[in-house]
Amino acid sequence: MRGLMQGDHLLISSLIEFVSKHHGDSEIISRRVEGDIHRSNWQEVANRSKQVAIALDKLNVPASSRIGTLAWNGYRHLELYYGVSGSERILHTLNPRLHPDQIVWIINHAEDTVLCFDMTFVPIIKSIHQRCPTVKHWIALCDESALPTDSDLPKLLSYESWIKDQSVEDYVWPVFDENTASSMCYTSGTTGNPKAALYSHRSTLLHAYAIALPDVMCVSAKDAVLPVVPMFHVNAWGLPYGCAISGAKMVFPGPALDGKSVYELVEQEGVTFAAGVPTVWQMLLNYMRPLGLKFSTLQRTVIGGSACPPAMINSFRDDYQVEVLHAWGMTEMSPLGTLSNLKNKHLKLSAEEQLKFRLKQGRSIFGVDLKIMDDSGKEVAHDGVAYGDLYVKGPWVIENYYKNDGPSPLVNGWFPTGDVATIDPDGFVQITDRSKDVIKSGGEWISSIDIENIAMGHPSVVMAACIGVRHPKWDERPVVVVVIRPGEKIEKADLLAFYEGKIAKWQIPDDVIFVDSIPLGGTGKMLKTKLREHLKDYNLPGVG
Ligand code: AMP
Repeated sequence: MRGLMQGDHLLISSLIEFVSKHHGDSEIISRRVEGDIHRSNWQEVANRSKQVAIALDKLNVPASSRIGTLAWNGYRHLELYYGVSGSERILHTLNPRLHPDQIVWIINHAEDTVLCFDMTFVPIIKSIHQRCPTVKHWIALCDESALPTDSDLPKLLSYESWIKDQSVEDYVWPVFDENTASSMCYTSGTTGNPKAALYSHRSTLLHAYAIALPDVMCVSAKDAVLPVVPMFHVNAWGLPYGCAISGAKMVFPGPALDGKSVYELVEQEGVTFAAGVPTVWQMLLNYMRPLGLKFSTLQRTVIGGSACPPAMINSFRDDYQVEVLHAWGMTEMSPLGTLSNLKNKHLKLSAEEQLKFRLKQGRSIFGVDLKIMDDSGKEVAHDGVAYGDLYVKGPWVIENYYKNDGPSPLVNGWFPTGDVATIDPDGFVQITDRSKDVIKSGGEWISSIDIENIAMGHPSVVMAACIGVRHPKWDERPVVVVVIRPGEKIEKADLLAFYEGKIAKWQIPDDVIFVDSIPLGGTGKMLKTKLREHLKDYNLPGVG
């Protein structure tokens, strides 16, 4: 028997309708590319996102078209989040830190028809536009007066002029099935070409509900939330939606992610809750410490994307009275998987004992089922000791990648994360290793295979292995271990120069280690675990 309840679809437009109706004056603050601080609120965001929707209608952009963004965190990006998805188009956030060739590949794969970009990224647009045949409209996120006129740019529209005259009075958001795609995000955290997670309205809303829960991020109307995590990294961990559910004030840092700028924004805007990768918080603490600065409003911060160092959790707690919530997730999981919030029984523990739990990547939340499996495919006990490959399942975990003509990534309905973990009886997950061959530096992926293939393209190299080495600021940095053709000689600097132009600058290895041989397994595969063991006392140049 069917329940007799109203079957309204869970649509992103319902979020912006709700928040504008009940929290319309809750502020949206943005540090802009222009350098100033812009003040808006949820009501204005709602109006302008409707203007975006109408402007897209007038360009005859059909439903389900992919609308690319190359943009920092800010109010215009937020308006696009709602205007694009709310009107049944698909918001495609692009990562500007990738090499332009990779950006071109992704735009063509997604077949973006419109591309909206911040002025910072004009040089990228210049270098890619001729190679993006599906993009029909290039929209600069600026006023008409700031529109660049360089001859090597495509015809541009200014965002402000584009949306300005659209009258929203009679506009009603379209209603459609909640399983319709709403946004997409490519990840390089896999082997091979980048792959896209294609989120739906339903998955986005359920994820938004989940992140706002008290034992998760506890986002409320009392909060002023600063997502330092970029809106091009898995929808800023869902905060643009979770804050709308809660009616929270939002504070966007724009392009200024240095310690001084982030600190000033936190203090000026009374930020209570912030979210970002460890590297950003390291920069913030490094700025504050020598000046003896303190926070006056910040209460808690979610740190994820990479493992949070214990010293960071301790320093936030002891020196700044800020609670760190360590979180783990993936692009393929919208992204939230686990978050480390203590249970009632842990509150009696000493700070040292509590740290053991806070350091773990967190416990399961309703909506994400977790299991760990050994090499033979048997489930491993949740005893906090035994480890295995971590698998996940749930309504905001991908079922497949966009346009994947290969086999499904799922194994018996579960998504293999490529992380290795333990799970304790309280459900706390601890990531102990990574089985996927990638390196994460400052929250961004570097493909070991790309690094190896480029080295192998050098005429003097016969074998190359790339491994990640711990770094105090960037968490991990790549080094390439190479075997040189007998009788030949190359300098480190020459091999490093060989990478230039082939990958983004920050992806170039920090060092080259010359060896006579690289350990191989029975099938001829390089044994990186052995290699890491051999190099366990190795330090990166300039890192003690
Ligand atoms: P992404 O898809 O770029 O968000 O990256 C997801 C991956 O980042 C995970 O599969 C992990 O390998 C890694 N990761 C994310 N959060 C953490 C964390 N708190 N600790 C360790 N690794 C993490």
